Amino acid sequence: MLRLNANGDYLKAPYIDNFGSSVSNWMNSSSPVVAYSVSFSTSTVDLTTPTQTSWDNAGISYYAAAVAILYDSAGAQIMTYSQAQNSNKMITYGAVWCNPDGNYAGPTELDQTKILTHELGHIMGLGHPEMYNPIPASTMSVMRQSALGFSTPQAHENSDIRTMYGL
Ligand SMILES: [Zn+2]
Repeated sequence: MLRLNANGDYLKAPYIDNFGSSVSNWMNSSSPVVAYSVSFSTSTVDLTTPTQTSWDNAGISYYAAAVAILYDSAGAQIMTYSQAQNSNKMITYGAVWCNPDGNYAGPTELDQTKILTHELGHIMGLGHPEMYNPIPASTMSVMRQSALGFSTPQAHENSDIRTMYGL
């Protein structure tokens, strides 16, 4: 099992209400992941709503709902797909930043949960299935960027995690 220790103490509305369900979504019966909500001092994944200044200074798009920020075992931020693919290091820390702009609070409750569940997928190393190695459009995946009406991990990502981590 892959273990995820997540904290959401620094999330603000609207995403604070979706934190618990996004973490527990990774604990469904067919998932090779155990995910827990833990205290900030022991977490290895922190979900945060940064200040607007921090969001802007980081150069993150106005249109992004959230971003996943990953660090490897050498303390370096993982910035690109190719860097991740060519690295032999482990992901040791991740942060999920949610868009602090109140005007971006448009997504429904289901979409908000999908967004956080999706970002936790990035934290575990999953990419977007429509990029690089496209999968058929009929294959369900919470890692697609489009809204698909569900917010839970699907067989596709559970399979990818088993493959990546040898589970
Ligand atoms: Zn994404």
